[in-house]
Amino acid sequence: MNIILLGPPGAGKGTQAHILVDARNMTQLSTGDMLREAKDSGTEMGKVVADVMARGDLVTDEIVIGLIREKLTGEKGGGFIFDGFPRTLAQADALGSLLEECGETLDAVVEMQVDDDALVQRITARSTCGGCGNVYNDITKPWPADGKCENCGSTDVKRRADDNEEALRNRLMEYYKKTSPLIGYYYAKGMLQSVNGLGEIDEVSGAIAGALG
Ligand code: AMP
Repeated sequence: MNIILLGPPGAGKGTQAHILVDARNMTQLSTGDMLREAKDSGTEMGKVVADVMARGDLVTDEIVIGLIREKLTGEKGGGFIFDGFPRTLAQADALGSLLEECGETLDAVVEMQVDDDALVQRITARSTCGGCGNVYNDITKPWPADGKCENCGSTDVKRRADDNEEALRNRLMEYYKKTSPLIGYYYAKGMLQSVNGLGEIDEVSGAIAGALG
């Protein structure tokens, strides 16, 4: 089963993708993670995208489609979860063609709905564990008092450079201008399932499991 998790920044796509990886042995393909990796390891492409990402703008379709193309031939376990991709109509068309070339299908698109105030609160309070990617929130799920990640014991607290109010405003604007048309695109293809992304993590993962069947 290959699925897309669609939603604005802070909707919880990464958190829910991790849960699906554990529960269904799926493979998460997060273009945001791939781009951050390229940036941190200082590759030529990483240098090109660093400023774009810091501003909260979208990286070119060509770069992200290239990243996804490379991964589609790799190990997929119980199927791919596309997390943060596609983000434009051109990327959505390209994904359809790439899957067809590999003899794969897209089985569901899960839209995670969250209101904008909640997004700002989630993102500006967000940190992740550098060891395992577990997501924390200063208000609703603070780091354990002993400073160690509850999941893997790492003490490496990471905050994303683009998790600040100014970049977030830009990321939201990019979402509404360029990514939200995908909701109509996949609805018209009969693939869209919408879930409330505002509840507790378990409630949201239950709703996603229900949507996937
Ligand atoms: P994310 O981790 O998904 O929030 O992505 C972080 C940043 O990476 C975004 O704000 C964009 O600058 C860039 N990015 C990630 N995925 C894409 C994509 N599919 N298309 C264009 N830019 C992307």
